[in-house]
This record gives sequence, C-alpha cells and structure tokens, in this order.
Amino acid sequence: MPLNIPGLLVPFHLLVNPRLVLPSIAIKDIRQLDFHALRRAGYRGAVFDKDNCLTIPHKDHLVPELQDAWAECRAAFGPDHVLVVSNSAGTRQQDAGAIQAEAVGHALGVPVLCHTSYKPSYSCIADIRAYFASLPNPVRDDELVVVGDRVFTDVVMARRMKGPLAVWTTGMWQREALLMRGMEHGLVNVVRRWAKPADDPTTRAFVRQSVLDLEK
Ligand SMILES: [Mg+2]
Repeated sequence: MPLNIPGLLVPFHLLVNPRLVLPSIAIKDIRQLDFHALRRAGYRGAVFDKDNCLTIPHKDHLVPELQDAWAECRAAFGPDHVLVVSNSAGTRQQDAGAIQAEAVGHALGVPVLCHTSYKPSYSCIADIRAYFASLPNPVRDDELVVVGDRVFTDVVMARRMKGPLAVWTTGMWQREALLMRGMEHGLVNVVRRWAKPADDPTTRAFVRQSVLDLEK
C-alpha cells in the first residue's frame, strides 16, 4: 500500500491539538447508531469509512450483520446523502480507474467518493465538501455524521472539519493494523483523561445500548 503521507503527518498536528483524536461517540459498530434519532436532531448526511467499518477490508459487500442498520441509515438520510469515503476504493493511488469505487457503490447502494489524497488530508475534506455542496439541498459540515474505525484517519478528519459528529467504531470485522490500533486506543485513553471531555447527554440519545448489552 502506498504511504499515507497526510496520515503520517497527523502526529505533528496532534502535538498542537491532542483533542483531534477524541470522537463524539465511540460504539462497537453501526448497529448501535440510531439513524432516525440523528436525522431528527438535524443531521442530514453521513460519511462512512468502508474497510472494517462497513465491509471486510478490500471487499465490496456489506458485512451481513449490518444489513438492517445500513438500510435504516439509507432510509433516514436518503442514499444520495450517504457517502462512502475510503482510503482504498476511490483513491487515485489504489483505484485510479475508479473500478473499485464503482463496484462498492453498486454493492452498498450509495456513492463512493473519488478523491486524490488520502484521509485525513484537507484535500480529501475539500472533495467531501464539494460533494455535499453539489446536492440539490446542500449539506453543511455541522449537519454531517462522520463514521469510521480508525482514529488517525476517520476521527481526525471529522475533527479537522470542526462541524461533524465524529463516530468511532471500535469493532473489527477482520483483524488488521493491530499495532496502530493499539496506539490509537492508548492515545484516546490518555487524551480523554487529560482533556476530561464533558459527557454530552445529547449524543447518548443516538446510541442504542441493546447491541452491546446482547454481546456482554
Ligand atoms: Mg477503516
């Protein structure tokens, strides 16, 4: 895999602003999100990571367990308001002909962003904004939910955008990048302790406890 230069530069940005790693919500997977509650609260669009969030890494199809949650998400926001932004499918570096983006978009039933630079780069953020600005009813950053399983790409990108709700999915559908994930978890814990983020009761309304309770 080509080097993710924007990702490698993240630690320097974190030295200036460690809170960039803090998600608004941490959940196991998207079954815990109440998409209709998010819509009622004014969120009008969603950005999803693909690998290990919606699919097995480098596969096109949704993980079967997520079928109902994904249908609910698309119904709540509308398929055009749900955008997949991956660091594999749709990237100039790994998917220059957008063949994977096409296949993933077909399998998931939503558009897949074609972008020139990896998450969490500002260039990728600009491409996301351009997509949502092009809709008949444009969606602003603060009306977006950004969902992904990686802190240094998905959460940091959501935080750099400043407006969106940053949702971190901590589960894994296939084990990968265990060392980096361990570092991400460790860093989030340290920054949480240091920054003492106030518990936001509004975000609790978006999380369904039932899935976690079932798996305890
Ligand atoms: Mg991922």
